[in-house]
Amino acid sequence: MTDMTKLNPQLEQDLWDLSCYIYENPELGHEEFKSAEAHCKLLEKYGFTVERNYLGLATGFRAEYVKGAGGATVSYLAEYDALPKVGHGCGHNILGTVSTGAAIHLAQNLGDSTGRVVVIGTPAEETDGAKVKYAAEGAFDDVDVALIGHPFYRYERSGQSLAIRALRFTFHGKAAHAVSAREQGINALDACILTFNAIGLLRQQLLPSAYVHGIIKDGGTAANTIPDLAVAEFYVRAETLTYLNEVRARVEECARGGAAAAGARLEIEEFEAGNDNLVTNETLMDILETNWRKVGIENIIPALPAAGSSDIGNVSHVCPAIHPYYSIQAPGEEYPTHTEEFRETTLREPARQALWQNACAMAMTGKDIMDSPQLLAEIKAEFEKAMETA
Ligand SMILES: [Zn+2]
Ligand SMILES: [Zn+2]
Repeated sequence: MTDMTKLNPQLEQDLWDLSCYIYENPELGHEEFKSAEAHCKLLEKYGFTVERNYLGLATGFRAEYVKGAGGATVSYLAEYDALPKVGHGCGHNILGTVSTGAAIHLAQNLGDSTGRVVVIGTPAEETDGAKVKYAAEGAFDDVDVALIGHPFYRYERSGQSLAIRALRFTFHGKAAHAVSAREQGINALDACILTFNAIGLLRQQLLPSAYVHGIIKDGGTAANTIPDLAVAEFYVRAETLTYLNEVRARVEECARGGAAAAGARLEIEEFEAGNDNLVTNETLMDILETNWRKVGIENIIPALPAAGSSDIGNVSHVCPAIHPYYSIQAPGEEYPTHTEEFRETTLREPARQALWQNACAMAMTGKDIMDSPQLLAEIKAEFEKAMETA
């Protein structure tokens, strides 16, 4: 059996250079031209066939390495978008490089295995996450598993994230002078306020795992004019899609009630792409954890409760997926993501070590799946079962 617990030194150096290059060239979502191209070039150097502009996204790509006929298809997802002002404060220079590195390392160590190694470059995680579009448009239909890990300050197993939908309520009323013609007005702001009150009361009946939070985007223009237009935007979140849909229906009823009480007309729309909840494939996560330990990782904590939403959720509803966290910081450091301090840690030695350790562990996980149809069958059985209640 080949020892995959180390990268070859040239690949290790290439990956570190890629991460540092992306650090030096931070690009916002859908503008990651240099970063995406750097990933594509490196993958081509190591024998991958690359499709740029994948599914119509200029900074998306799909790279494939095929060996023989049949076998499993293992995919690694690469993000490389930066944040305004802080640049790579979320560490996507490391994140994407670990995925590309895992794919190359796996391709170099396939041995007798047949199958396909795929890297999907997914733009704009920080804004309108391309994974939503890619999952909806079939990017994962021919993929058996999807792996991605996020840089952080500890090793944490993949867990849950919340499903989210972004709802905009637009209330149309009728403007009138607030004193001299008040009986002729239809107050759109009243409809909006009643909606907030109704949702506030509804929260008493919601499970603690559901969240509804919103703002008034438009509440009129002058205090002496009855507002003919009011706009509210809400995020509705829940741990499962099933419950999310229930809560969403009740929140929409609150808006209908508010509109009816004020006599206003209501329009409902989704103002951003929603994310599905992340359903972690525990079998897949167990394999990665075993491989983490093989490359020397020790302090691994169980997944913590869901605290946000992410476009990886959509992927996890179309194929078995994981999204764990790994530390790129020295023991004792706990710099949070989206900060300059976190960004700087992506240049230090612990990040370089995390890069090769995680590329190796993720590649070894792919290899385990390619070498064992039984393991892949278990992963798929868990996925099918989980989708019944997702
Ligand atoms: Zn982020
Ligand atoms: Zn991130």
